[in-house]
Amino acid sequence: MANSRHLRVVCIALALWLLLVPGLHAQDSPRTYTVVAGDTLFVIAQRFGVSLDELVAANGITNPDRLEIGQVLIIPTPGAGPAGVPTTGDVRALPGDTIASIAQRTGQSPEELAASNGLSVYARLFPGQPLQVPRAAIPEPPLRYGAITQVRVPERLVQGRTGVVIVEARRNVTLSATWNDLPLTFLPLDAEGRRQFAYLPVPALIAPASYWLTVSYLTGDGLSVSRSWMIPVAAGGYDSQVINLPPDRGALLDPALVQAEAAKVNAVWSERTPVTYWTGPFSLPIGAEYPTTSPFGTRRSYNAGPFSDYHAGQDFGAPTGVPVFVPGDGVVLLVEMLTVRGGAVIIDHGGGVLTGYWHLSEITVQVGQAVAQGDVLGLVGNTGLSTGAHLHWELRIYGIAVDPMQFLQEPLVPLPAG
Ligand SMILES: [Zn+2]
Repeated sequence: MANSRHLRVVCIALALWLLLVPGLHAQDSPRTYTVVAGDTLFVIAQRFGVSLDELVAANGITNPDRLEIGQVLIIPTPGAGPAGVPTTGDVRALPGDTIASIAQRTGQSPEELAASNGLSVYARLFPGQPLQVPRAAIPEPPLRYGAITQVRVPERLVQGRTGVVIVEARRNVTLSATWNDLPLTFLPLDAEGRRQFAYLPVPALIAPASYWLTVSYLTGDGLSVSRSWMIPVAAGGYDSQVINLPPDRGALLDPALVQAEAAKVNAVWSERTPVTYWTGPFSLPIGAEYPTTSPFGTRRSYNAGPFSDYHAGQDFGAPTGVPVFVPGDGVVLLVEMLTVRGGAVIIDHGGGVLTGYWHLSEITVQVGQAVAQGDVLGLVGNTGLSTGAHLHWELRIYGIAVDPMQFLQEPLVPLPAG
């Protein structure tokens, strides 16, 4: 990653920080800095005009030689004490806190605490409001901003493909994120929840450009801190195809029926189960001898109209009756004979990842059934709006259709360390 992007990220993070804490002056706000390649604590301390000791103390650093790229450091207020250790520190008001409750927590009298902060003992506090207390009165260094040690963000993404963002923290933090305004769901990568990940599905028709990823977490003091990255999206290099629909096929369809079917299927696609049922790469949902007849992402024009549609799945040409397999463990969410999609099955693999199978002649699973990789879920057919027997296989994450074949090649769920 280029240094310039990091600088921008820091500026934006600071801007967001200031927006999040109304009523604070800029110079009172703790600043943060994200470590980039080549940084040392000495260089960072110099840059911000603080002593090395202050920087180490503010971040609870035990081994100054082990700085990690992407690590977020708290930049303390310069010159806070002769020995580098400030004599007073901040505690932050939690929702519902009063002078009395904070005084009790920090072992002071309410009068003392109020006086040292220039407040009345009855002052109304806002959540996140900083209060000066003697350093010794702070029970333990609060994990305010330094809880997140690393955020791994893809250098670039590709139309119709899936990336992941991995967040490492010193403790289990509550994370939320948006990718181009789409809310993401974080899943734990280890038992302690110190490593978490979320998928970054890229819509196939999104214009190649840079889009924002924003990751927020709730600090120990109940504050939300956000950081943002611009991630470039490259073109997927998909083919184009003109489809001439026979007039009788299209005429059979009642638009209201098509709409109702889409609404029903989309509601199922939006499911987000907060666990993953499967591990490792997916397997093919059909015998390897059946070729792809139409890959994911192909731009489509119907009857020479504009290329405003695309193929949301992968088609395999196979005769009616060929078995269709479950590509990864999951739970069956939908089994139905639909007008457009024909014999349809949707499987929830957890974590917002779902797969769909259309045009089946027969279905051998039931809604709510737990299925394992390799199980037969049904048979290839030519039901619904289909011009010949084939399997349409679709994979969606948070409702966004992405290339299912990527799931065969890569274990997109990052494996737990150790
Ligand atoms: Zn298809």
